[in-house]
Amino acid sequence: MSRILIVGAGLTGSLCAHLLRREGAGRLQLAVWDKAQGAGGRMSTSRCPSDPKCTVDLGAQYITVTSDYAQKHKLFHDELVAKGILKPLNAVVEGIVMKDGSYNLVTPHGVSSIVKHYLSQSGADVCYERHVTQINLRDGKWEVSCKSGSPETFDVVVLTMPVPQILQLEGDIGKLINENQRRQLETVSYSSRYALGLFYEAGTQIDVPWAAKYITDNPCIRFISIDNKKRNVESSDIGPSLVVHTSVPFGVEHLEQEKDEVQHVILKHLETMLPNLPKPKSVKCQKWRYSQVVTSTQLFLQPWTLLRVTEAFPDCPGQITLHSEPFLLCGGDGFTHSNFDGCTESAVRIVETLASCLKN
Ligand code: FAD
Repeated sequence: MSRILIVGAGLTGSLCAHLLRREGAGRLQLAVWDKAQGAGGRMSTSRCPSDPKCTVDLGAQYITVTSDYAQKHKLFHDELVAKGILKPLNAVVEGIVMKDGSYNLVTPHGVSSIVKHYLSQSGADVCYERHVTQINLRDGKWEVSCKSGSPETFDVVVLTMPVPQILQLEGDIGKLINENQRRQLETVSYSSRYALGLFYEAGTQIDVPWAAKYITDNPCIRFISIDNKKRNVESSDIGPSLVVHTSVPFGVEHLEQEKDEVQHVILKHLETMLPNLPKPKSVKCQKWRYSQVVTSTQLFLQPWTLLRVTEAFPDCPGQITLHSEPFLLCGGDGFTHSNFDGCTESAVRIVETLASCLKN
């Protein structure tokens, strides 16, 4: 039985595990490792420390389905809609720019519910707080080492983290990436931004006429959303939550600063913009060092990207094969584009590439 390790419990890794389970029914032993404490990656959902029912999505906000992908990934979208994991976005989003024929879907239970769904369908052995540091070739198998614990051996390894984190891995992997691949991997760049999540007491009223709003005239803030309102879940028992995304230039300028200091600056800007906003009971600040890659066509479609400062892997192949016997692949949004359909495209390509080894 082939032992497959997927590094990264984000959307690409979890969907890859789900699709591999379907393809290789019973013949594969799947493991998913992530350095974080939970599932989601950039599709994570954070909980209020004093009320786990009050949640906020600090990364991805909604799933934009373009007319091309409405056909191409119909099965994926339909399955998530049928299970109630995705629902149409009905709330008011000020300043949103949509391409003809596109529509948005939201996740009533938080965006990480998509990733959790795929992980649970995959039957994989999912381990958190496993920070992969080294990959070595030993007797025709991959020996994978983490920051703590003993190394383990796998027949196939799939890396789904942002490309700069792949390039940080040590061991034989460094020698296996050929010069051309390394040059291309080094061209992949990501925008950086901060996100703040504000959690409120149950019953707090946030008096604004929108559920989300794009801001173009503030040097710090690019997007604000009353997260529960956007997801269409308003309840008197659960406090509302609010998410703020900074602009990319602000994110880049403050990237190496202490998170507490940056949080303070963002809150000051928020107070100026919304002076009547009630005081939150807690605030979470998230630094997205590797936020999104952008392709030139996407620039005009996705409202959360303002500048073309970042780039995906040349020609967006979905995955690249670093080694084939045994297989060592890398994928993720860096090899396509940064959204649900980009990750889906990547996961599908990874599974197609592994199809030959799944037959044996
Ligand atoms: P990731 O989610 O980054 O998953 C990679 C995982 O690998 C992470 O969980 C990480 O912890 C783990 N990892 C990294 N290094 C190691 C290591 N050495 N060992 C073990 N584990 C490791 N998309 C949309 O569709 N709609 C949106 O509205 C939207 N808005 C966004 C807003 C923001 C602020 C951000 C940051 C992203 C947004 N995106 C949006 C993009 C979307 O979130 C990403 O494209 C997608 O989540 C990427 O998934 P992934 O699985 O490829 O990578």
